[in-house]
Amino acid sequence: MDLGLQGKKAIVCAASKGLGRACAISLAREGVELVITARTAAALDQTAGEIRQLTGAKVTAVPGDISTEAGRAAALAACPAPDILINNNGGPPRGDFREWDREAWIKAVDGNMLAPIFLIKSVIDGMIERKFGRIVNITSGSVKSPIAELGMSNGARAGLTGFVAGLARQVAQHNVVINNILPGPFLTDRLRGGFEQAARTSNRPVDDLVQERLSKTPAGRAGDPTEFGDACAFLCSAKISFIVGQNLLLDGGAFNSSST
Ligand code: NAP
Repeated sequence: MDLGLQGKKAIVCAASKGLGRACAISLAREGVELVITARTAAALDQTAGEIRQLTGAKVTAVPGDISTEAGRAAALAACPAPDILINNNGGPPRGDFREWDREAWIKAVDGNMLAPIFLIKSVIDGMIERKFGRIVNITSGSVKSPIAELGMSNGARAGLTGFVAGLARQVAQHNVVINNILPGPFLTDRLRGGFEQAARTSNRPVDDLVQERLSKTPAGRAGDPTEFGDACAFLCSAKISFIVGQNLLLDGGAFNSSST
């Protein structure tokens, strides 16, 4: 299927690695011109080069912290009128909520709730005027099935999800479509880091823990970031304007429900 994205412009946040990188690659394959961001300039430049080589797309690397005003302004300066915005960021740390002070919470809310909201605020009126916009927020399966030790992630992402549910329904009439993708376990650096921490605590090999946990899911495996990227590109398609305000769970069937 031709997604109808040839020549469109996208900002893909937090895209030097993992799920953001996969979304950038899938969009580039559809002929989308990209601005990609991440904090570490060298890794970001390397990813930009790889995407250019793989797809021939125009890719501009804009280093910066997307949780900050300056980081967002830099991305928007490089792409002031995006057709597509992929909101992504690192996730808050695990832990016991008794250890988290106000500063830790503000950081989580800034990164995983307010950064995407302020980016949406910056681009949405232009999308409405141009009668085309696609926004995908990468959140987490924890929005539907909270993970106790990721309390700050549960909280901040639930806030974003609630906000988006309202806004998506205000802008859909203008062919501006906002949806969220909720990753389950995708074997990126972030997920591997979690398993490495558990391996140190339990004194067991990382691969055993990965196998033990993921073989229990209906799909019997971890997600491949490539399939995440392709789902993201699909939700950016010119053809999906009736899919509005949805929370698409990509978890290999792990969340058990008859109506998800
Ligand atoms: P990852 O492999 O660790 O990649 C994170 C990317 O984000 C890197 O490119 C990183 O580059 C960039 N980044 C981090 N903080 C940033 C910031 N403040 N500003 C700009 N860029 C930033 O992580 P991932 O697995 O792709 O996860 C992406 C998101 O999905 C996270 O929020 C994660 O919590 C969520 N998630 C992932 C899974 C999973 O299974 N992988 C499951 C549920 C939810 P720099 O460090 O150089 O900035």
